[in-house]
Amino acid sequence: MDLDDGTDVLMHDDDVLDSTETYTQFTGTSLGSAIKPEHDDPREGFSRTKVLKSATPALKGAGLKIASVDHRLNPRKDAPRPPKFDGLPYSTAQTGLVYDVRMRFHVEAIPSEHDMHPEDPRRIHAIFEAFVHAGLAWREGCNGPSDYYMGRIDARKVTKDEVCLVHTDKHWDWVQSLSTKTAEELVDELQHPGEYRQMDSVYLSPSTPYCAALSAGGAIEACRAIMLGTVKNVFAVIRPPGHHAEREDVKGFCFYDNVSIATKACQQEFGERCRKVFILDWDVHHGNGIQQANYDDPNVLYISLHVHKDGRFYPENSYRDRRDPYGDHLHCGEGAGLGTNVNIPWRNHGMGDADYIYAFQQIVMPIATEFDPDLVIIAAGFDAAEGDMLGGCHVTPAAYAHMTHMLMSLAKGRVAVCLEGGYNLDSIARSACAVGRTLMGEPPDRLDSFNPTKSGVDDVKMVVRQQSKFWSCLYPKDLTARLAGPLQGERMHDLVRKWQATTLWEEHEMSPLFIHKEKLSKSFENQVLATPNYTEARPLLVILHDPPEVLASPDPRTGKIELHNTWLTDIVKTYVNWAVKQGFAVIDVNLPKHVTSDDGTQAHEEVDEVVYRTKEATQLLSYLWDNYIELNDSTHVFLMGTNTGHGAIINFIKANEERAQERLTKAISFVEDVPLQSCKSATNDQLQYWYYGASLVFVADEHGFWHSEFARKIKKRFGRLYKSGEENISDMLIAHKDAVTEALLQETEQWRSGRPASDDEDMAGTGAALPEPIQKGLPPVGNFALSPRGKGISNGNFASPRGRATRSPRIGSPPKATPPTANFALSPRQRLSRSPAK
Ligand SMILES: [Zn+2]
Repeated sequence: MDLDDGTDVLMHDDDVLDSTETYTQFTGTSLGSAIKPEHDDPREGFSRTKVLKSATPALKGAGLKIASVDHRLNPRKDAPRPPKFDGLPYSTAQTGLVYDVRMRFHVEAIPSEHDMHPEDPRRIHAIFEAFVHAGLAWREGCNGPSDYYMGRIDARKVTKDEVCLVHTDKHWDWVQSLSTKTAEELVDELQHPGEYRQMDSVYLSPSTPYCAALSAGGAIEACRAIMLGTVKNVFAVIRPPGHHAEREDVKGFCFYDNVSIATKACQQEFGERCRKVFILDWDVHHGNGIQQANYDDPNVLYISLHVHKDGRFYPENSYRDRRDPYGDHLHCGEGAGLGTNVNIPWRNHGMGDADYIYAFQQIVMPIATEFDPDLVIIAAGFDAAEGDMLGGCHVTPAAYAHMTHMLMSLAKGRVAVCLEGGYNLDSIARSACAVGRTLMGEPPDRLDSFNPTKSGVDDVKMVVRQQSKFWSCLYPKDLTARLAGPLQGERMHDLVRKWQATTLWEEHEMSPLFIHKEKLSKSFENQVLATPNYTEARPLLVILHDPPEVLASPDPRTGKIELHNTWLTDIVKTYVNWAVKQGFAVIDVNLPKHVTSDDGTQAHEEVDEVVYRTKEATQLLSYLWDNYIELNDSTHVFLMGTNTGHGAIINFIKANEERAQERLTKAISFVEDVPLQSCKSATNDQLQYWYYGASLVFVADEHGFWHSEFARKIKKRFGRLYKSGEENISDMLIAHKDAVTEALLQETEQWRSGRPASDDEDMAGTGAALPEPIQKGLPPVGNFALSPRGKGISNGNFASPRGRATRSPRIGSPPKATPPTANFALSPRQRLSRSPAK
């Protein structure tokens, strides 16, 4: 079957009309009688364009022809078929199929020959053809008893009253008005939409109102057939799609929100029997229309899995609501409907089967089971399918079958599948077939991939945390509400840095350097700690590192972390200890992964973006260089950076080529979860060679770099690269400590051989200045100290305390023995009886 051969465009498909039209005539039997559309004229609205004129004769003829085999559902004929063998269960009803060739009449008013619009009329035909080829749908010429096929359900035009369950009168009137416009007028309408209306990704034709009405009416009849018990489930192959259409706006190829209209119509008609409707939207785009239509309805659960890319993927936002990008996980419904809107937004493209199945297992099925719907409607776009040009994801037909299969366990199997997007004719045909087969009772195919992506797991866990507020089945529960109350916790990263400052003070008399930062935050307290000898003529090691790693074994149900099941690993400190022992001066820089503001909430905070963190770290390093490193007497300067520290070092070198080459002895990087940066200058070809000689770069085993094109022939500009056998920073710091210390010893060999032996023991006692403590008995919290001369010279976010000429920001000399905190002023014995520092 060649679905893409181009012969099946509307203008040349008499054979298609012949073969399918017989089943969409209005003869008014069975299901058709309930919906007999006396106002339906197949020719309505089609006389004005060349395209549609050519279709009219075929339609006319087909409309009068009596089908040789009437395959539509007939309550008598389609009674449950007998079991093939005694004692075996049999299917109690057929699967229904809504397909009407006339929905293909919605085409571009002035089509371009070479640039076919993705919302191609052939989409629905491709699916129908695939159904026929797969033996799922009957058409003239097919063999076998008709009741082994899907039962055909007539589409019909939606009424104004039905449309207005979701849309405004104004919207209905405007869509209707299109039928009387010429092609030129329609193009003009698109190009000059006026103040009130935006034309966001749609095309118009005089037949649009007719096709949109059939599409919405088809969705309603699909759901009605299930609720009436005529079919067990149904596949509605309808277009134009609907899930982007908003209350008063066409959008994203959509005119009427088919699925929401069907939902409201069934709720109205069937009352208590169809009170709760679950709409699952697996189209790759967020169904903004469905969300809007049901946002405050507690009886409609809407769950959408879609690519979101932090709001940078269609549909970014709503023109009329002027909301933030609203496909994010924080849009959970409002009023009585709070908690019945569940967005599962993928932050990345390229999601596959395992991600979707994981989301189903972790979120969709638990929530839907708890919701316990009366009817399930799938807003089934197949644009997340492998091969779709707009979606860029990789969902296979087998995964669609599995998702359908899972959903069939709900609502006694009452599942209506309504086509939404999907633009690769081959992909949608194969995916729809897999869904159709499953609806008919065939078990799903086996899946090939089982491991969700890291970002997929992150996205799912983020949604679980958010939705745990509304669904009792989801654990662990979000802590925000508890922390917002009287608990008022303090963030652990602040406490840990305080503890680090305390121990580094105790062991090496390291104390905070003054950093002028305009935005004050606890995250920067004690950010930079230095040994007292950092200005002296000795090697200086500056370590820009991530916060220590916390390993915890949380309670599996509550997620609660008990202190006895939590470990803090601070490997960087072993480097500090080593360097101090060698007689090096050390500046220890903590790079927080998230900067909390003092007026911040107690909510869960994501790690700040790498780009932002790297920029902050670069500014801080430049500040340190200007004020504390460049002008001192260091014999050697070593910069060592982990993750964003690595980015900061490279950025700094590139921005200060000469100064860096002059003073920097070695740059050591550990790279785990940030991009590996290259050190290349546009003007100075020598820089990369210098960097190659002056660097050690350890890159995690699983880092994406090793799979990139650069890894095949590694360039010097990446420095002296080592592929670490380890995967995370702490393990890498342990594994390569010998290599790093060996290199530092080699570089400093001459200095070490020339210095007096006693120097090792005399680290703190050289009379070097200690910064002045702010309060008596406390270690100085440099960031919060006022600069002697106000804000000084601005240097990005950081301002120099005294400008560049300052040799060292020596603020004063406190007594050397001043312990860092009040608690530690006590004798060791007394200390035992004191409560720990707060
Ligand atoms: Zn879509």
